[in-house]
Formats: sequence, C-alpha cells, structure tokens
Amino acid sequence: MTNTLLQDWDTPFGLAPFDNISDEDFEPALAEALETHSAEIDAIAACEYDPTFANTIEALEEAGSQLDRVLGVFFTVAGADSNPVREDLQRKFSPKLAAHFSEISSNKALFARVAHVWDNRDDYDLTDEQARVLMLTHRGFVRAGAALEGTDDARMKEIKGRLAVLGTQFTQNLLADERSWFMKLEENDLEGLPDFVVDAARSAGEEKDAGGPVITLSRSLIVPFLQFSPRRDLREKAFLAWQARGANSGETDNRAIAAETLSLREERAQLLGYKNFATFKLETEMAKSPDAVRGLLMDVWEPAKAQAEADAAVLTDMMQADGVNGDLAPWDWRYYAEKRRMAEHDLDEAALKPYFQLDRMIDAAFSCATRLFALEFEPLDVPLYHSDCRAWNVTRNGEHVAVFIGDYFARGSKRSGAWCSAMRSQAKFPDVQTPVVMNVCNFAKGSPALLSYDDARTLFHEFGHALHQMLSDVTYESVSGTSVARDFVELPSQLYEHWLEVPEVLSEFAIHAKTGEPMPREMLDKVLGAANFDMGFATVEYVASALVDLEFHDGSAPADPMEKQGSVLASIGMPAAITMRHATPQFAHVFSGDGYSSGYYSYMWSEVMDADAFQSFEEAGGAFDPERAKALEAHILSTGGSEDPAELYKAFRGRLPGVDALLKGRGLKAA
Ligand SMILES: [Zn+2]
Repeated sequence: MTNTLLQDWDTPFGLAPFDNISDEDFEPALAEALETHSAEIDAIAACEYDPTFANTIEALEEAGSQLDRVLGVFFTVAGADSNPVREDLQRKFSPKLAAHFSEISSNKALFARVAHVWDNRDDYDLTDEQARVLMLTHRGFVRAGAALEGTDDARMKEIKGRLAVLGTQFTQNLLADERSWFMKLEENDLEGLPDFVVDAARSAGEEKDAGGPVITLSRSLIVPFLQFSPRRDLREKAFLAWQARGANSGETDNRAIAAETLSLREERAQLLGYKNFATFKLETEMAKSPDAVRGLLMDVWEPAKAQAEADAAVLTDMMQADGVNGDLAPWDWRYYAEKRRMAEHDLDEAALKPYFQLDRMIDAAFSCATRLFALEFEPLDVPLYHSDCRAWNVTRNGEHVAVFIGDYFARGSKRSGAWCSAMRSQAKFPDVQTPVVMNVCNFAKGSPALLSYDDARTLFHEFGHALHQMLSDVTYESVSGTSVARDFVELPSQLYEHWLEVPEVLSEFAIHAKTGEPMPREMLDKVLGAANFDMGFATVEYVASALVDLEFHDGSAPADPMEKQGSVLASIGMPAAITMRHATPQFAHVFSGDGYSSGYYSYMWSEVMDADAFQSFEEAGGAFDPERAKALEAHILSTGGSEDPAELYKAFRGRLPGVDALLKGRGLKAA
C-alpha cells in the first residue's frame, strides 16, 4: 500500500487529495517525514564543502518540504475536524515534534556552518531578502542557545526543561481551580438573569451534578452573571472566587511558580548575553525595546484612566440610585455598565441578526478584496476534509493566485475560536509554490446562516490574515505571509475589520434575510456606537495587565511577583473598581509558556497600527483609495517577514504609527 500523504499530489492546484487520505496514513507518514527531515539536516551539517548561503541557508529552506506537507494536512484536520485517533496522534507527536525542532536548533555542527555564513555575509553579494533570511536564521540559533558551550549549555537545557514543566503546571493549576469551584443558585437567585444565562447555569449544574443551576468560573458564564445578576452579595462571592484562581494556597497555587519562572527567564536571557528577559524577548519584535512598549502603553493609559474615572462616577450614581451606598466595587462595574448600555445603546441582537447573512458577509469580504486588490473568487469543486468546507480559486487578471478554503460552521470535532492557517505557504524557492489558505470559524448553522455583528467582524479579521498569506510575494518560505513579528501579525487582520464598518459595504451586503432591505442607517449607527461602549474599562484592565507583564521582565526578576504587581498598579494609579484583566496567578498568556511574556502589549500595538493605517485611507479620500491599496499590498501584505516591520510600516505610512487614531476609535480623548 502506498501512503498518499508521502506521494506527489497530481491534483488541481496540488491540493491534498482528502478523499484518498485515511487516518491510518498519518502515523507512518509523520514518522517517515520526521526521519527524512532529520536526514536532510544531517546532510547539511555534514556537507564537505565550505559553507555558503546556498549549501547552508537555502538548503535549510528546502529541507522539510515533505514534513511541511504532512503537517499541513494533519494540523488542518486535528484542529478543524478531530476524532479520537487524531487526538491520540496529536498527543503522541507533539512532544516528538518539539524534540525534533529543538534538536535542530541545538545542532552544533549545523550552527557552526550557519555562523560561518553569517560571519562572512559581506562576501556573498546577497539580495536584501537573502540577507534578512540569513540574519533571522542565525539569530534563531543564537537565541535558542546554539552558541553556548560547556556548563552554560548544560544550564540552558536545564532552564528550558524546568520552564516547560512550570508552564504546564501553571495551566493545570488554573484549570483545577476553575473546575473545582462553583456556586449553587436557588430558583429565586435566577431573577433578573436573561434566558441564555439561566440555560447556561442549568447545563453547568447538570455537568457538575449539582442538582440545580450553578455559576462556574468559566469566562463565558461568570462574565454574563456579573453583568446581569442584581444580587450584589452573589456577584461579590463569584467575583472573589474568580479572582482567587491560582492563589488559593495549597497544591494549585501559582504564585511560587510565577516567581520561579521570572527568575529562570532572567537567567536564561543573561546566559544569552541580554540585560534582562524583556530586552531578549523584544529584540525580534517591531517594538524592539521595553521603552518603546512602555511609551505606547502610557500614551494610552492616561486617557483610558480619565475615561474610566468619568464612567465610574456615572456608575456610582446609578448604584446609589439603586439604594446601595458606599463605593463602586469591581463586582459592581459590569452590572451597572450593562444597565447603562441598555439605556444608551439599546441594541436588539435579534433584530440585527437577519442583516448579517453568512453568505452575504463572505461576498462582502471578497468584494472589498476585489475593489482593493483586483482579486477574483471563483468556487472550486474539490474534495475537502468535511462537507461544510468550501473552496475558491483566487485569481488576478486571469492568473491563479491562491486557493482559499472557508470552513465556517461550529461542530463538535472543531476546536473553539477562529483562525487562519496556510496548508501551503507562498514561496518561489526552490520552485514557485502558490498558497492554500484556510479560514476556520465557529458560526452557528441555519438556513440561511446568520451572524452576530461580532461574528461578521471575526470573518473579516480572519480574511485579513488570509490576504496576508494569499498576497505574499517573497522568495523564501520562512519569511512568507504571516511569518512576521508577533506585534505585527495582527495588523492585516485588524485593519481588514475596518472595511466591514464602511457604510457603503454594509448598505450593499447587510441585507435583511427575509425582506431584502438594507440595514437602516439608524441601526448601523447604533451598532457602531455600541462597539465603543465602556472602552475606558476595557482599556484600563488590559493596559494594566500589559504594564505588569512588561515590568515583570524588564529589570531584575521580583522575588515576590504579587508585591511587584501591587507596586506597578499603585504607581499608575489603578482605579479602585477595576482589576487587571488577568492578575498574575491567572495570567496564562505570560506564565503558561513564554509566547506572550513581555508580549501582552502586542494586541494594543497592533490596534494602534490598524487604526493609524485605516486613517491613512480616510485621509487619502476613502476606504477604497487605489493608491493606498497599492501601498498596503506593496509594503505590508506582500512582504511577509522579508524586511524589518518598522521599516515596512514607515514605507507604507511615511512615518511610524501614533496613538491618536486608536484613541479616537476607542472614543478616548487624547491627554
Ligand atoms: Zn488574528
């Protein structure tokens, strides 16, 4: 029997022949592809000729193409259409893959060759992209510790191993605390709660076998409870339990884990020659330095705090009118804010939904891409991994650009959330490779399928990522599409959301499913107004978390992170009725792994850029300004990681981004 996954695919556009792939194919294919990749790496490391860009860096780019192909298919189905076999395989192969890639990055013979090419880079007459790929490859090895020798090398391995253990423990403790706590509600405690909260509380109660409705610490249940429950005592009890996750003493306490993690990260950065962990972490980002991050966060902080304080005064008045004396507490904010929202922006979701038909919103996303970038989308009939998936041939001036796959509906076999991935990335080396790009969402089915406004934004967001992949025009795959700095990667996606808000787009595509009428202007204004509601609160809880994350890693590691958290919050004057969006014992972004450590700021960094970038369209004469669209493609959507992101942004905008457009977009006033 031949394994389809390991063969060349003679299919339209070289798409994976899903109708010929069975679950039994994955394990042997993954095993063989890993072996092939290891053999390719060994051959590069053992090459008998002097190291050159071609026999080292390009050879590394070329290696692993079989593995990429197998993983492209496997991760697609494991995320979007899993089953017990695929789950087992994922558990089995995740550690193997991690070990495989860490072995490559600590391969001394290979690193010696990369370092030789790097040291002699001026002799090779490299293109700008080649120079960038060389820099990134070399830097990747150095940052992984490949240059360390002897005891330093051994210590680095120890630190990495221990950090991985601590990260897992942190996550598990948090989950354990989230799962073990629940608050039982009596029938009269349900008063004032909307049906969807009551239903969710009842099904949570069944799951817990509690003999009645319960509130758990899952965000999707506790947040609406805090928004709607008129019972201040219950809100307080639930909020305090929510805030105590990971800080309940005993076995699941995360505070000592946080302290040890911060100290090991500092040691790791210093072994690699950096002043501290934030400096190490931010080197690869657009921001580049802790000062740049702090500057941005503080530019946003003061206006956000001023807005939050003004809002707190309004909410306090509402609370006192309700007969509650004293200060507004964190467990009061969401409740009174919701009442205020109902009074000021009463937005009837049920009346809104018929205007957001999934198919019309897909058309809207495509239509904007046609107007901006001349892309055309033509349905493709090809076998895919699930009958809900749809595919399109994406062309420009009649030429094939990419295949786009949309997998929009929720189902039990799909993980939650929404994402964009490339089953195949764009590249021109060693051969031209056109991208196969997917958007996966979790929208509810229906006939016709209707979206909430948030869903429609998600659709545009993921399609923005897809454009970054589809319009990619680089030589090397390692810098293709979304292979960019973390604080740059959300720019294309968040920017694309702005086109959903363009009135002419909504009036053409937000068409009532039954009457065929476009959305009334008044409703549209309400939708856009509600999007900015309570932004002082949202910005304060977020920026406080981002600042604490930054200060944890910029400077020597605090012995007591909770004390450090307290002093950072005191120094910025944290409003009393707002807490951090993620307090330290729950801050999984920062402590479950180091993906977002010193990096929690990046959501806002991207938002600053998307607001500033869209403003440049408005300044130039409109959302579809052809010159701006051209510049966006030339400097951002086609360039991937082939140049420094700050330089790319400057080339697009003529300057670095400022916070004014973000403050305006969030309804905050500049300080
Ligand atoms: Zn995104």
